[in-house]
Parts: sequence; structure tokens; C-alpha cells
Amino acid sequence: MKNMTRDGRGFSLPEFLAYACISKAMRPYRRASQYAIGLIIPQWSFKATYMRAALVVLDTNQDYRLQDQVKAFEEDLAEGHIEAIMDMIQNRKTIILFKSDEVIPFHLRHALDVIIEVKAPEARQVRGVVRWAYKVSVTEGQAEALATCDWKRLKLAMTRGRPISRVLSVIEKMAATEPAEQKPARDPEALSDIRLEDMFGYGEAKLWGLDLARDLDDWRAGTISWDDVDRGILLSGRPGVGKTIFARALSASCNVKLITASYAKWQAKGYLNDFLKAMQQSFKEAKQYAPAILFIDEIDAFGSRDAATGSNASYDIKAINGLLEQLDGIEGREGVIVVAASNHPTKVDPAILRSGRLDRHVKIPLPDLQARAAIFRVHLRESLPEEEYKAFAELTEGASGADIQLTVRNARRRARRLRRPVTSADVRIHLPIAAKVPPEALKVNAVHEIGHVVVGVAVGMELVKVEISTQIIPTAPYQSVGKATFARHTWARRTKAYYLDLIAMTLAGMAAEELLLGCHDDGSSGGRGSDLYDATRTAIAVERSHGMGSGLASFGDLADHPINEISHMDPKLLARVDAILEEQLNRAKEILERHRRACEKLVESLVDRLGLSGQEVMDAIDKNTSSQPTALVRDGLHSLSSAS
Ligand code: ADP
Repeated sequence: MKNMTRDGRGFSLPEFLAYACISKAMRPYRRASQYAIGLIIPQWSFKATYMRAALVVLDTNQDYRLQDQVKAFEEDLAEGHIEAIMDMIQNRKTIILFKSDEVIPFHLRHALDVIIEVKAPEARQVRGVVRWAYKVSVTEGQAEALATCDWKRLKLAMTRGRPISRVLSVIEKMAATEPAEQKPARDPEALSDIRLEDMFGYGEAKLWGLDLARDLDDWRAGTISWDDVDRGILLSGRPGVGKTIFARALSASCNVKLITASYAKWQAKGYLNDFLKAMQQSFKEAKQYAPAILFIDEIDAFGSRDAATGSNASYDIKAINGLLEQLDGIEGREGVIVVAASNHPTKVDPAILRSGRLDRHVKIPLPDLQARAAIFRVHLRESLPEEEYKAFAELTEGASGADIQLTVRNARRRARRLRRPVTSADVRIHLPIAAKVPPEALKVNAVHEIGHVVVGVAVGMELVKVEISTQIIPTAPYQSVGKATFARHTWARRTKAYYLDLIAMTLAGMAAEELLLGCHDDGSSGGRGSDLYDATRTAIAVERSHGMGSGLASFGDLADHPINEISHMDPKLLARVDAILEEQLNRAKEILERHRRACEKLVESLVDRLGLSGQEVMDAIDKNTSSQPTALVRDGLHSLSSAS
């Protein structure tokens, strides 16, 4: 019998097995000329073995210059480690190994083309590998013993090129005499079996998902037809708001298989034909398991046919047409629900969103106070007193679900190091540091918000509430220091007067600062999301989209164009827009002047109590509280928040 020796590269059976498992997982991408692939490996303690194998997958000659193209991601290392990996991804081919799906930071997640879970070797595969690497046949039982054997033991048993029979008997003896290795505990952050029922922060999307689960039950029971079941949904929102995990939780609640795909995964080989085939394959697989959920990540990567230009235009257009064909299901798509995710929904081709395809679009916002508390509860598995979750939620405004998960993971790690269960202090230590808003700033914020609400109410808007915050997190990108929430009336006629009122209300924070504090600061101005930016955009829309200004020609939907781009299209536009803004700012000031006493009182109350109801404000300015005559249905909230 042949001996099991190391080969020239020093490969013994574990390296061969790791090589076979990685090759299998990466099969669809092996021929691609460029890629950055994340591999979730089954045994982190053998990452060095997997790294050596991955190097050979990249280049069979094991050119050592390629060593900087494979790395194991160490979650404990500092930010610099992530940066180094980001740099590596610029290489032509990169493989990053991860311990689990949960440790992948979201910016890395988005930089990688695809993330694949490498499966541990099965007995059948071990048999094949042994035959291929050592030209030795093993029985099924022996293959099973090798497959389940710890690799450390396997390496020891194979020392000095023993024959297979000897290797197996050594393994058996080691197993009998050594204490069994402790099975690694399941990663508590993985939420692998979570159901939609237990998730929070999804609003309308969760209701849709739970309805779908009921419909699928009815469809399985034959009480409704497939026509009565929703076919798909587009989820949009910033990275980390939980779009991917939503699909997982949905499939658990619906009790169906989840098939995950993305443009990058389908495109791995590069050629259009391979792309289309890979896409068809995903739909086919979903059909095989029907009912099943097909999750398509980053659907905006398809782009839109209107925007397709340059040398790739024909590829892009054919790719979109291919997707439309699959969504329409010429051969039927019964039992396949498509959940697509996008960070940039405006870039998705409108045809993809048409009726019968992904005709429902739900935007997942950053979680609100209640949802943040619930997400902390989910990740901490309800191990802390109830009031703590609320406190954490208050300290994390602007955080996404992924940010919360990261905080909890860090807290757990600290508790593990201290060898005790996680405590509130562990979490607090990893929360972003909150800064208290000083009294002078609190007053400025109150003046600003009262400006919005008094003018809003005076022009006939229905105010729900107004609030200001006592603390902010200096490092969070989006945060409000105050917020005015008005009821929105779907059927209100959006006339020119409506838009001018909206502009006056939006500029009223600034107007109030000028009137009551002598001048305004930069809190209302600046980039996207500031009051002045929003008011400018509305004024441009009046002039250039809605035919309510000096001309009728429309520039279409302005949402995607930065203001400087629009003003290039029409150089005279800004003068007209300035005039509108000036006029509405003066109008807002006049309204506030008329209600000056009420404003001053309201500012005091808001600083005191941090929140006032719409009714209190309406009473204070002695305004008729009935809603606008054109308002037929109240179906949502329009809120205006002032950023820090
Ligand atoms: P996206 O796909 O929107 O970028 P993910 O679904 O990948 O976000 O979220 C990353 C991680 O953040 C998830 O694995 C989960 O642990 C956590 N997370 C995000 N949103 C939520 C939520 N609403 N509830 C619980 N955990 C969440």
C-alpha cells in the first residue's frame, strides 16, 4: 500500500481537503480574470491550512508574490487591518477568509464581489481526494473516519508518510485516549435561525413578509391560487439596515428554502452567456425547491437600460432583458418569490419594478428608538434588564442594525475575556460616546424647531409633534437635534401654493433664529438634507418640474441630479429660485413676528419639556385646528428633522 507522504509543497491530507473544498466552493468563479472573494471557512482554527490551499487555488505554481492576495480576516484587529484588506482587494484576484458571516464588516461586505460559505469535506469528497492525491482507495467507513477526524490529529497521524492503514489506526487510538475536543459553541451573534416574527425595524416590509407566509400556507393547502400570492419585493436602504438578514428571516418564517444570488455572483465569469446561464440556474434552482425565495442582492448593479452607454451598453441591456425574462417567467415562475435588495433604488431599471415583477418597493429606514431597543434585545438574547435596552436605544440614534450588532459583539467579546456573562457595562463601553447638548444650544434648537412648527401650523399644516434632543453622538453621520412631525395628506392637491407653503415652513427654522436670536447659524444650511438645500430643491421643482414657474419645460425627476448640475442646464434658474426662497423666508418671518409672544412661550416650554404635541402648539398660537379642506386621507407622517 502506498504511503501518505507530503507532496513537494508540504501538502498533507488537510491541505488537500481544504484545497478541494475551496475549489468546489469557488468553481463558478475559477475562470474569472478578476475577483475579490470572501470565503467563510468551516474550521477557523485551521485557517493557516485553508490559506495555503487558497494560495494554490489562486495559482497552482504557488508563486510567493501572490501571498498578499490571500488573507484571513481577524475580527479582533484594529481598523488598520480592514484598510490593509481594502487595499488588497484592488489586486486582480483576492481571497479573504472569514470565521463566520457575522464577522464581515459591512464596508468589506460591499467591497467583495461575493461571499461564499465553504462546506466542510464530506466522506465522499475525502475518498476522492485520497484517491487523487495518494492514488489510494479507502472504504466508505475509512473515508468517514478521515472526514470527521480533527485535522491536528490527522497531521500527527500522517507523520513521516505512513500507509493509510497505519494512519487510520493511529487516528482511532488518539480518539480513544485523548479527551474529546469541545465542539465550538454556536456563534451567538449569528441569528441563523431567526424568524421574521422576532425581528424589528422593518415596518411595512415585516407586515408584507408575514402576510406572504400566510399566503404561502394557503397556497400549499390549495385554498388560493399562485395568482393571489405576491411575487416579489424590492427592499432598499443604507447598508446594514438588515436587507439580507430580512430575506433569511423571511425564508424561515415561510418555511421555504432561500437561494441567494447577486449581479456579481452571476457575472463572475464575465461573458454574457455565462452570466445569463448563471442567472437562469438560480431561477431554476428556486423553481426546483418551490415554494422558495430567491434573494438578489444589489439589484441596482444591473443599472438601467436608459443609462446604459459606452462599450458595455449592449451587455448591460441584454443582462437586464435576461432578468426581465426570468421575472416574467415565460416557462412559469410558480412558487418563486423574488426578494431584491438595493442601496440605490433610483438606479434600478423601471421595467424591473413594473407590475407582476418587483412591483412592491419598501424602503427600510434606519431603526427608530423602539426598533433600536428591540434589536439590542434580539442580539443580547434578552439577557439584561428591560430598562437597559431603552437606554442603549436612546444613545444610538442614527445607528443601523449592523452597528448595533457590532456593539453587542464587542460587548460579548469583553465579557468573554473577563470570563463572565455580558453586563450593561460591557455594552455601554462600546456605545458611541454621547455628548450632552449644552443649555445654550438646546435653546437655539428649540427656537429653530418652533419656527418650523409655528409657520407650518399658520399655513394650515397638521402638526403631530415637535421634539428636541438632549444628547447627540458626535461621530454618527446622521442625527437630528430636533424634529417637527406633520401629518401628510395623500389627496391634498399639490398646487403652487402648497409648494410655497412647504418652502416657507422649511425655511422657518432659519427665520426664527434670525428673528429671535439675531442671525442664523449653519445648522439650517449646507449639503443634502439641510433645510436650505431641501427648500432650494422644492423651489427648483416648482420652476423646472411642475410647470409652476416662468416656463413649462420639465427637467423630469430632479431627485438624482445635484443642484449644480441642474443649474448648468438652465443658468438663469438660480436667480428665479433665489427670488422664491427670499420671498418665502420673508413670509415666514412675518408669520413668526405676528406670533412672536406665542413663539417665545413655546420655546421655553420646549426647552423645559423637550417635546410638545401638535395640539399644544396649535392652542398656543390660537389657530383653528381643523385640517386642510383638501385633506381626505391621513396616511403617513412628514417629518422635518434638523441635523446636528
Ligand atoms: P444589509 O443587507 O442591509 O446591508 P444585513 O442584513 O447584511 O444588512 O445586516 C448586517 C447585520 O446587521 C445582520 O447580520 C444583523 O446581525 C444585523 N442587523 C441589521 N438589521 C437588523 C435588524 N433589524 N434586527 C436585527 N439585526 C439586524
